[in-house]
Amino acid sequence: MLPTIPFNKPYFSGSETRYIEESVRSGKISGDGLFTKLCHQFFEQQLGFQKVLLTTSCTDALEMAAILLDLQPGDEVIVPSYTFVSTPNAFVLRGAKIVFIDSTAVNPNMDASLLESLITTRTRAIVPVHYAGIACDMDAIQATADKHGIAVVEDAAQAIDSFYKNRALGTIGKLAAFSFHETKNIISGEGGMLAINDPGLMQRAEIIREKGTNRSSFFRGEVDKYGWVDLGSSFLPSDIIAAFLFAQLENLADIQARRKAIWRAYYDAFFPLAAQGIGLPMLPDYATNNGHLFYLVCRSLAERTALIEHLKALHILPVFHYLSLHTSPFYASKHDGRALPWADHYTDCLVRLPLYYELHADLQRRVIDGVLGFYHNI
Ligand SMILES: *Cc1c(COP(=O)(O)O)cnc(C)c1O
Repeated sequence: MLPTIPFNKPYFSGSETRYIEESVRSGKISGDGLFTKLCHQFFEQQLGFQKVLLTTSCTDALEMAAILLDLQPGDEVIVPSYTFVSTPNAFVLRGAKIVFIDSTAVNPNMDASLLESLITTRTRAIVPVHYAGIACDMDAIQATADKHGIAVVEDAAQAIDSFYKNRALGTIGKLAAFSFHETKNIISGEGGMLAINDPGLMQRAEIIREKGTNRSSFFRGEVDKYGWVDLGSSFLPSDIIAAFLFAQLENLADIQARRKAIWRAYYDAFFPLAAQGIGLPMLPDYATNNGHLFYLVCRSLAERTALIEHLKALHILPVFHYLSLHTSPFYASKHDGRALPWADHYTDCLVRLPLYYELHADLQRRVIDGVLGFYHNI
C-alpha cells in the first residue's frame, strides 16, 4: 500500500533540540532569555522590523493588539468573515462589536472597496488577513483607515517572508500578528509574535506582555523598581520555545525556497484547470508568494466533497477550512444580516493540498495525478 500523504508535516532542521538543550543548560528558561533575544534580533536586523515581541501564539499577539488599541465595549472592528476565529475573538474579548467584511472574487482577502460603507463613528480598527500569505490591498486599506483615523492591525499569521510592493507584510499596519504554529512556514509548535510599527506603542506593548508591569524597563536599568502600571497578561513564551524557533529562522531561506518550489509545481500542473472554471491562487501585481498554502477553489460544495473523497481513497489527505464566521453559532445572532457571498463561496469550495518541506517530487506527483485524474473523469 502507498504511504499516506499527510496534509502537513512539521519541518525540523536538526538544530532545534541542540538549541533547546543549550537553553536548558544556560540556567534561564523563562521568557526573554538568550534565544528570545536572538529571534528578536533576527526580525529587527535581518528582516527590517522596527520592534517585535515573541508571544505564545498569534492569538495572544492579536489580544495584545486589542489591549494596546484601548478598545472599549461597543467599539467596532472590521474583520473578514473568512478567517480563523482568533482574528475577531481577540477583539470580542475587549467587548468590541465585529463588523464582518466579505472576501474578493479573485482571492479570499478582504474586499477593500467595501470598507467605506462599513465605517461608522464607532469604528476603531480594520484587520486585514493576508490569506495564504498573499498581501491584501494595503494602500487602499491604509488610505481608508487614515482618512477616518482608524488603526490597521495586520493578521500576518500566514505571511512571513511575503511582501506588498517590496514592503514586508507585518510592517505596514500599526500592529501585526504572526503565528509559529506547527502548520505555518516557520514553527515552534505553538508560538507567535507581535510586530509594533508605531513607536508610540512600543513601551506599552512590553508592559502588557509582562502582566501589566514595567519589568522590561527595570531589567534595562531604566527604573529602579518595577510594579503594576497597566493592564496586561502573561504573553511571553519560554526561552525553550524561542530556542526551537531560532533554529527554524536560521533556515528561513532554505525552507522558503523549498516551499515555493512545491507551490510553483502545483500551480503549473493545475493551471490548465482554470479554463474549466476551477479557481487557482491569484496574486495581484503588488503581492508576492511565500509558499504558505496551496489551494484550489472547486465549482461547488458537492465537487469539493467528491474531490476530497477521491484523494482520501488514494491515501492523500487534503483539508478545507474556515467556516464563514458571520454564520457561526457564536456570532450569527450578533451579525447585522448582510449576505457575504464570497466568504460563503470559499467556505464551501476551497480545498488545501498537502504542502510541507518533505513533500518530495514523487509524493507531490501523486497529489497532482490524483487531482488531475479526478477532473479528467467528471
Ligand atoms: C494560524 C492563524 C491564526 C492563529 O495562530 P495561533 O498561533 O495558532 O494563535 C490566526 N489567524 C490566522 C489567519 C491564522 O492562519
